[in-house]
Amino acid sequence: MLTVIPIPAFQDNYIWLLRQDASDKVVIVDPGDAQPVIEYLEREGLSLAAILVTHHHHDHTGGIDALVKRYSPRVIGPDNSAIPAIDEVVGDEDECRVQGRSFEVFAVPGHTLDHIAFYAPGTPGLLFCGDTLFSGGCGRLFEGTAEQMHRSLARLAALPDDTLVFAGHEYTLANLRFAQAAEPDNPARDAHLGECERARQLERPTLPSTIGRERQINPFLRIDQPGLLNALAEQGSVDDDSAAFATLRGWKDRF
Ligand code: ZN
Ligand code: FE
Repeated sequence: MLTVIPIPAFQDNYIWLLRQDASDKVVIVDPGDAQPVIEYLEREGLSLAAILVTHHHHDHTGGIDALVKRYSPRVIGPDNSAIPAIDEVVGDEDECRVQGRSFEVFAVPGHTLDHIAFYAPGTPGLLFCGDTLFSGGCGRLFEGTAEQMHRSLARLAALPDDTLVFAGHEYTLANLRFAQAAEPDNPARDAHLGECERARQLERPTLPSTIGRERQINPFLRIDQPGLLNALAEQGSVDDDSAAFATLRGWKDRF
């Protein structure tokens, strides 16, 4: 059986670790820091078979060099020379096989232009989406346009409801508090916020989420909802979906 384990790093990053019962070789996603990964691997007597990288930001790549020196894993990531040690460049619709699972690659520009997501179909499917889709929110637009991000998120939102969403940061509480302002009347979201507050009090991750849940609670996947559009109209243009998305993202940046 494949288990996915969060290794916390820095203030609020998760380095996701994929572990097969019968194997002592594991795979990690977005190692911003090598030290917590090395500590986990040493403690459990494991070695590193591969690293998956979603985008070039340092909090997702800063640990790659040290981990490559120590374990010589395959490093699979987007076409960007700013990322150290990539030996398998992947882009939209490519496939790669790790831990006995086949992963489809989606180009999801918006947060950065090189951003990709890794999706393993299955029951449930697994989605590693870096800083594109967060629980209750999405990444800031550092390089891409609102239109690109809106399209990238729509593609992820179209995955099956039970798909597990492994995002790169623990931002859920702040995202859901903004969501309360953006879409005041959403009882499912309020109930989920309560659960997440209890989880964080116990220092438990609020992730993984699921695509089905995100479609219920995440305002960035709910641009078509009348309650959200009413609130957005007071903040800026809602002339079309991509204008409404840009208004929502800009509002969150100021919130
Ligand atoms: Zn980032
Ligand atoms: Fe990040």
